Amino acid sequence: MSQTPTRADFDHYMVPNYAPQKAVPVRGEGSRLWDQQGREYIDFAGGIAVNGLGHCHPVLVEALTAQANKLWHLSNVYTNEPALALARSLVERTFADKVYLCSSGGEANEAALKLARRWAHDHHGEHKHRIVSFSQSFHGRTFFTVSVGGQPKYSQGFGPVPGGIVHGQYNDLDSVRNLIDDDTCAVMVEPMQGEGGIIPADPAFLQGLRDLCDAFDALLIFDEVQTGAGRTGSLYAYQQYGVTPDILTSAKSLGGGFPVGAMLTTDRVAPAMAIGTHGSTYGGNPLASAVALAAVEYIDTPEVLEGVRHRHDLFREHLEAINRQHGVFREIRGMGLLIGAEMAPEYEGRAKDILPLALEEGLMALIAGPNVLRMAPSLVIPEADIAEGMARLERAVARLVAEQ
Ligand SMILES: *Cc1c(COP(=O)(O)O)cnc(C)c1O
Repeated sequence: MSQTPTRADFDHYMVPNYAPQKAVPVRGEGSRLWDQQGREYIDFAGGIAVNGLGHCHPVLVEALTAQANKLWHLSNVYTNEPALALARSLVERTFADKVYLCSSGGEANEAALKLARRWAHDHHGEHKHRIVSFSQSFHGRTFFTVSVGGQPKYSQGFGPVPGGIVHGQYNDLDSVRNLIDDDTCAVMVEPMQGEGGIIPADPAFLQGLRDLCDAFDALLIFDEVQTGAGRTGSLYAYQQYGVTPDILTSAKSLGGGFPVGAMLTTDRVAPAMAIGTHGSTYGGNPLASAVALAAVEYIDTPEVLEGVRHRHDLFREHLEAINRQHGVFREIRGMGLLIGAEMAPEYEGRAKDILPLALEEGLMALIAGPNVLRMAPSLVIPEADIAEGMARLERAVARLVAEQ
């Protein structure tokens, strides 16, 4: 037990649901990480769009340690100052009137779906329970959220799935017109599909969903777990689209690496979540709330959000330069610092092969499905780290091309 754990211990002691890379990072600062051997990496992965302010940002470390010396946990039998301050801050910055706090994106979506079902049940009756979602969408790994998600492989093999869920085609309003009716309680959608391949919604699609929801008195739920907390260059992506949901979920960058989630909604909808209808032991935990409050207040400033849009342009320029040299990408797309590079037909399905090569060159990146290289770095990644990370990516891509 006194020996330092290694990657081999994963296979001995952990349930085999993941296949982590060989390197075991032990320390991070900003957009750089170091592994057990002292090798240094540039981080374009950001803990899957979570480390919104990089690693160990002083503002978050200060918020966490200050709270750690005051009060860790109370349960929901009592309220606490950080949770109230976080909820007030989110209400003041968004369309929302009311907030439910929890510990992850899946939990925030679970709450959103249960709220929509309960609201429709209370206002219209049992029949109005149908949920419209989209193929390739991702909403979390709880059983309700994998069932609403549009990737059947995540819900198959676990027994009967919850009923009343149908899937349309993303960015195809006609497919929704064919599914929505008076029995529909909610439409759940990501303003930009993340896991599904970094696919931004067409503005007319989101507006069309808003209009259909209004016509059928269904609730529009935006899953902003990945796109939220500054990721797309506004605090939430809906603010750029100008389409307002009834319920919005947030997690990932909201806590900058501390587990936290939030569901935002309006005074019209919130009362359906009456006393006793739902809950979570850790929801509104003081430590999580203190960190999330610091993250939101730091991110939701013109300097940081303009910085995200500026860095988007830098990422795009570098990726286009790599592509002019190697011709591996079919399309470079995304918003803010959630960027996808879809592989060219000759490299179909090979985005995942770039990851170990990039790691050897000292770069952490992501994929979104087998065909899209994904980047979700810190919102404040230094420009020098972008340049160096892209030089490393170029070497990884050159090796992929040489192997081909
Ligand atoms: C990551 C993600 C989730 C799930 O969040 P967890 O914190 O892993 O439960 C839900 N929706 C979207 C869009 C995500 O990207």
